[in-house]
Amino acid sequence: MENEKQIQTAEILCVGTELLLGDIVNTNAAYLSQQLAELGIHVYRHTAVGDNPERLKHALDAAFAEADLVITSGGLGPTYDDLTKETVAAYFGKKMEMHKDSLEAIRAYFERTGRVMTKNNEKQALMPEGAVVFPNHYGTAPSLAIVGGENNGKTAIMLPGPPGELTRIFAEEVRPYLEKRRGAVLVSKNVHIFGMGESAVENELATLMTEATNPTVAPYCKEGEVRLRVTAESDTRESAAEMCDGMIEKIRQTEVGKYIYGVDVGTLENAVVEFLHKNKLTLATAESCTGGLIAKRITDVAGCSDVFFGGCVTYTNDVKERLLGVKHETLEKYGAVSKETAAEMARGVRERLGADIGVSATGVAGPTGGTAETPVGTVFIGISTEKGETVRKLSLSSMRSREYIRIVSAANAYDMVLKSR
Ligand code: ATP
Ligand code: MG
Repeated sequence: MENEKQIQTAEILCVGTELLLGDIVNTNAAYLSQQLAELGIHVYRHTAVGDNPERLKHALDAAFAEADLVITSGGLGPTYDDLTKETVAAYFGKKMEMHKDSLEAIRAYFERTGRVMTKNNEKQALMPEGAVVFPNHYGTAPSLAIVGGENNGKTAIMLPGPPGELTRIFAEEVRPYLEKRRGAVLVSKNVHIFGMGESAVENELATLMTEATNPTVAPYCKEGEVRLRVTAESDTRESAAEMCDGMIEKIRQTEVGKYIYGVDVGTLENAVVEFLHKNKLTLATAESCTGGLIAKRITDVAGCSDVFFGGCVTYTNDVKERLLGVKHETLEKYGAVSKETAAEMARGVRERLGADIGVSATGVAGPTGGTAETPVGTVFIGISTEKGETVRKLSLSSMRSREYIRIVSAANAYDMVLKSR
């Protein structure tokens, strides 16, 4: 291919008046940014312009002044306001010509979906000479890359606006193309940590994090958990993955190692479902302050039905007694938010549903309802197994929101399930 330049920097340029009017949210820019970050291509800027060729041309000028690559989204459709392809082609000094494969693909698409093809749709098969065409199996607008031309070996990639099309074409066609053009492969692995705060993790890994350049180690916080993203750059995917594994081994050998619950496990609830499958165990939940969140997140995981029996949301004392068999005296003597109640809730749900593990949560999620002994943010997480009950007390600062208290409570419940063996 003609004077291709290696791609290291990019701008994302979204076309569509709807974006400027605030009718739609620019999710394509967010998606593309994440993808490019994974590829190690630095995104310098996001721009949005209306369906206007003059302004698009100005935006291209500004973008290519800095970036090796411009990815556009939108404006590839068949209608008069879809001008992206023509404008970018002219910018690269390329003539348009009929692309036979695309024309065939569009015809086939219309046949498959039982719709009538109009003359307009033929326009979608016009491509700039020498373009790399990425087939679109999900719509009619083909995606394409233009390289070089009057543009110093720089590259434009054009993707259709509908997110369902854009994300699939990117994943299937554009990503492999960019991996080649990037000249190196980047692999990231996520190390999941629970029970150690972000600053403690950073403190423990300070030297590793500042001195490591390849792989790099970057921490980030998510819903009460800490994650470390380990990223290595190499010639092949395999060797980059090996470099990541080496770094993860080093991390495991530090104090942080004790708190790692998985690598690339997605979420805590994923890890729980995997743990239950692996150990052939089943789970039941009894929830008060979390209102079903613990069960909800478990059921977000596909394939949980073999290991998750069900759960009860027992909000009032009366229901805790009737559904779970929590003793009246326990509630009278210790209150609903107590170690004792949490233990009986967990045991009750385990026995009544016949599961191997029962997990419970009872607490004060706030913003009201706190007392001197049990302030807002006090939560008890109970676990019951055949070995007996254990309870963890959480004191989540009353400064935090109701939602945060629930999320962290659920996270602790999962952590306790993972440690129940
Ligand atoms: P079409 O063939 O559907 O016309 P197109 O490439 O011309 O495809 P647009 O007409 O610009 O795309 O946008 C089509 C639809 O895609 C929009 O109505 C909107 O719902 C969605 N869309 C466009 N741009 C974005 C964006 N940046 N982020 C999220 N959604 C978008
Ligand atoms: Mg359109």
